[in-house]
Amino acid sequence: MASMEADGPQAPYDPWWAVRRRISAAVAAAGVDPEIERLLLVPERVLEVAVPVRMDDGHVEVFSGWRVHHNVARGPAKGGIRFHPALSAGEVTALAADMTLKTAVVDIPFGGGKGGVACEPGRLSISELERLTRRYTVAIASLLGPDQDVPAPDVNTDERVMAWLLDTMDMLQGRSVPGVVTGKPLSVGGMPMHAGATSSGVVRCVRAVFAATGRPLVGARAVVQGFGKVGGPLAFLLQSAGMRVVAVADVAGAVWNPGGLDVSALAEHARSSGSVAGFVGGTPIASTDLWAVEAELVVPAALEGAIDVDAARRMTASVVVEAANGPMTPAADEVLDRRGVVVVPDILANAGGVTASYFEWAQGRQGYAWDEEMVADRLARTMDRAFGAVWARAQALGVSLRDAAGVVAVERIAAAITARGLFP
Ligand code: GLU
Repeated sequence: MASMEADGPQAPYDPWWAVRRRISAAVAAAGVDPEIERLLLVPERVLEVAVPVRMDDGHVEVFSGWRVHHNVARGPAKGGIRFHPALSAGEVTALAADMTLKTAVVDIPFGGGKGGVACEPGRLSISELERLTRRYTVAIASLLGPDQDVPAPDVNTDERVMAWLLDTMDMLQGRSVPGVVTGKPLSVGGMPMHAGATSSGVVRCVRAVFAATGRPLVGARAVVQGFGKVGGPLAFLLQSAGMRVVAVADVAGAVWNPGGLDVSALAEHARSSGSVAGFVGGTPIASTDLWAVEAELVVPAALEGAIDVDAARRMTASVVVEAANGPMTPAADEVLDRRGVVVVPDILANAGGVTASYFEWAQGRQGYAWDEEMVADRLARTMDRAFGAVWARAQALGVSLRDAAGVVAVERIAAAITARGLFP
């Protein structure tokens, strides 16, 4: 891969451009047929929809929504639904491609999909959010189904949104279709531990990478960017594992305590005030200074492109585990690689969520309820197996964990594409 002076020609940061670069690098390193690369550099299907919603005051707003299937050679499209004001077709496509790679890394029988609506959910009332979700579901319904495309939660969506999506699909089809969506509430066929599965998988990778590189975990310092659905539980789990969480940031600010933040007190503060900012158990710092905080581990758990070249240059940590999707620009990646920082990539590190989704999908199709023990055990085994495969490949090829994960994924996707042949 040619070196880059900066974060690429695009401004602002373009995640689809970044994923395409990573796919090309993985194809080259895996030595698979370049025709596979041509297939993976374009999404199979992109649906853009208008989502008109009657607002509570009576006027109609029209939102834009998307559902993208990047590649479905390995199975039905799988991936979350994101509600975010800055969402675009390119971002959704990048996230769908990440899902193609991620489902292959953990070797679950899915392809990659993603969807979402450009909206600011915090400004919508509950009933507006419900109408938006249901109208969006109807607009993309032709793509959805247990054998076609199975959505799940992502940024700013949760089990309540998934329940509305499920109910809308059931209404449209006149029957119960539990396998059409994952991340549902337990009361309608959800999976125990689904909500914390991404964070559990991240911590599993933290343990594995510290063990594999001979770093002591207990007492090590961690920095976490994001304190939402993933970052919140993650900070708790890191603390329970014996680490010191020394800095946490969310959209409104960042707090630092070199002795370790009291994560329970921080969570209580964030619950009552809406943000980690203003927490008295730490010193406020600028969000951009988060990356420079002295620590052994950094976990970005927010949005794409968070770690740029500047952040990478200032980082003191020697391990990064990517809980968010695409949190690092390719140029930042190069900087960290040169400095010998070990990066556990998103398509491995945050795959616990989609793995739990796989179990939920299987449960829905089996009509047999899984218990917590079975979920925890299989989730841990799946993550450990994936980490082991990626680690071994990185050692064998002498490449980064990101390149190795890309190689493992692309080989599996290429095998499926080759086995199918080209229709007609
Ligand atoms: N949104 C999560 C992810 O990016 C979960 C996707 C899923 O379970 O389908 O991996």
